Amino acid sequence: DHGLSEADPDVRSIIDKEKQRQFKSLELIASENFTSRAVMEAVGSCLTNKYSEGLPGKRYYGGNEHIDELETLCQQRALAAFRLDKNKWGVNVQPLSGSPANFEVYTAILNPHDRIMGLDLPHGGHLSHGFMTPKRRVSGTSIYFESMPYRLDETTGIVDYDMLEKTANLFRPKLIIAGASAYPRDFDYPRMRKIADAVGAFLMMDMAHISGLVAASVVADPFEFCDIVTTTTHKSLRGPRGGMIFFRKDPVLGVDLESAINNAVFPGLQGGPHNHTIGGLAVCLKHAQSPEFKDYQNKVVSNCRALASRLVELGYKLVSGGSDNHLVLVDLRPLGIDGARVEKILDMASITLNKNSVPGDKSALVPGGIRIGSPAMTTRGFTEKEFIAVADFIHEGVKITLNAKPLAPGSKLQEFLKFVTTSDFPLIDRVSD
Ligand code: PLP
Repeated sequence: DHGLSEADPDVRSIIDKEKQRQFKSLELIASENFTSRAVMEAVGSCLTNKYSEGLPGKRYYGGNEHIDELETLCQQRALAAFRLDKNKWGVNVQPLSGSPANFEVYTAILNPHDRIMGLDLPHGGHLSHGFMTPKRRVSGTSIYFESMPYRLDETTGIVDYDMLEKTANLFRPKLIIAGASAYPRDFDYPRMRKIADAVGAFLMMDMAHISGLVAASVVADPFEFCDIVTTTTHKSLRGPRGGMIFFRKDPVLGVDLESAINNAVFPGLQGGPHNHTIGGLAVCLKHAQSPEFKDYQNKVVSNCRALASRLVELGYKLVSGGSDNHLVLVDLRPLGIDGARVEKILDMASITLNKNSVPGDKSALVPGGIRIGSPAMTTRGFTEKEFIAVADFIHEGVKITLNAKPLAPGSKLQEFLKFVTTSDFPLIDRVSD
């Protein structure tokens, strides 16, 4: 058997190029991170060869004694990492990623066309929380369930809980979803619990973005108030690409969540679990219980605050005015530019972040903001000092975008890009210093 370089130099070369890109760029995408060598070793192991439909001790295939041991260990570590009592909480570690995990929850506790409420995507929510536009039901969640999103108060940038309460009282959802992809603040779980209880709804938290911060107790704990908690495993948690669903063991609203959720994962929506991912996840969850991990998560938050303060000093408007977690959302509209162009310019300087809609945006195609996250560069050892420099780099990029503004957009785009690539572009030198 050959190694990759010999067996397939094309793929080897693409991987090498991607490795260089990851190595050279300033990775500021809030949902990304650099997992450990140990996690990658498990993910790249022979665990990928095995079929093991079912749960530990209850498989549809033979030869699963080691896989059973692995998945049980992963479950135990998942509960321990979030300080959960195994008599009160259970976990399914098989979801293939965050979106499938969410759909598995909906499949478990809802009937088709039941009503759900999640944070609207243009206000920071995720597609899988029921996104739809006036013209189109975009997410499968909004195709199979009736979605009525809640939103932020546009003046404060904070979830409008009063409006959520009023709307929930009228809409009577069966499920309320907390959690977001681009929200720099904590959720008010006690308030959401009250709203859910008043209308007889389940309360689920999708902590995908902040699960590392939750594990390290540097943000509020959703487990105290929610019935179900889902997460991806590859963002702030810094594990392999995957998902988990935590559920209360006691019946909630007459539903045995444990069997409903386990059955929704398999055979409901998935087949054989990705055992190599479960192996990597077990490694990640061991690390998530270490003092170093807590220290890392504290730095993720303090670095993000340093970045936010510097951006405010430089005159930027941040949605909600700052950040309690790992990301900031910059509203560029007061400058008369959009996030798409700033993303593009910064990309050319190997600064990777993403355009993002901000509350009040008219178009999702040309969003008015950028989202910046601290987890990945904190993994690479950045401190507050470097994050202040990052804010300054971003400022340079915005200035270049502003100067280039008369050349953009539309038919002039080519000219604009030529200008950027041929002019003296100081960021490139500075980044590679
Ligand atoms: N939930 C939230 C809050 C997310 O931000 C994301 C991804 O960005 C997901 C779910 C979906 O995860 P995946 O991309 O793994 O399906």
